[in-house]
Amino acid sequence: MIAPDVKTAIARLHELVDESDVIVPFTGAGISTECGIPDFRSPGGIWTKMRPIEFSDFLASQEARDESWRRRFAMEESFGGAMPGRGHKALASLYRAGKSPGVVTQNIDNLHQVSGISPEHVVELHGNTTYATCLDCGVRYELPWVRQFFEATGRAPSCPACNGHIKTATVSFGQSMPEDAMRRAEELTRSADLFIAIGSSLVVWPAAGFPLMAKRNGARLVIINRDPTEFDDFADLVAPQDIGSVLEPFIAR
Ligand SMILES: [Zn+2]
Repeated sequence: MIAPDVKTAIARLHELVDESDVIVPFTGAGISTECGIPDFRSPGGIWTKMRPIEFSDFLASQEARDESWRRRFAMEESFGGAMPGRGHKALASLYRAGKSPGVVTQNIDNLHQVSGISPEHVVELHGNTTYATCLDCGVRYELPWVRQFFEATGRAPSCPACNGHIKTATVSFGQSMPEDAMRRAEELTRSADLFIAIGSSLVVWPAAGFPLMAKRNGARLVIINRDPTEFDDFADLVAPQDIGSVLEPFIAR
């Protein structure tokens, strides 16, 4: 069913939520646009204007590492001050109510954690841009430290412990998917009796695999996304309306 308006979408989603015990949300950029986070991959998004730095280039060249950090600090205005939106708050409410064991996300903005979902219950398929790690020894570094070094020297820092490259904890283009996150995402998806895909075009692998995995496993499928997806025909509810408006009534007050 494609909901013709927000009111119908909310009413149907209420029924589905009430009838479910294990709700697993899967989120993409659309849930964070009302928070001022740019949608990198969409038409008009950053990656259509500025070529992404491939992981192999990051490894090979100090210049690419410097440029990568320069871009990251330029984005700090949108990432640094962003607060959870209505969608994040609604999902955090379902989590706190014990209706949802966790969320799978393509986003790197940390907003599910800020909204109150425990970090171990947020599965990040593309990592997290709000901190950095050493690619060799895995030690975590905070961005203000990296920035201080970068601004003092004009260069991306190396790891003081092992001299490895320090990179935001994101999965770059050309970098392999984190196996642990993929495994946990599959576990969550298989445990769901209601799978809600929110703000994702569900085109990019591995995102595309999860709705079908849930559906094949007997879960009901909801898709909340502005644009049609190729899974709309399989969905029990499609809501092509504004994400914040559809999810706002699910915020516990
Ligand atoms: Zn290191």
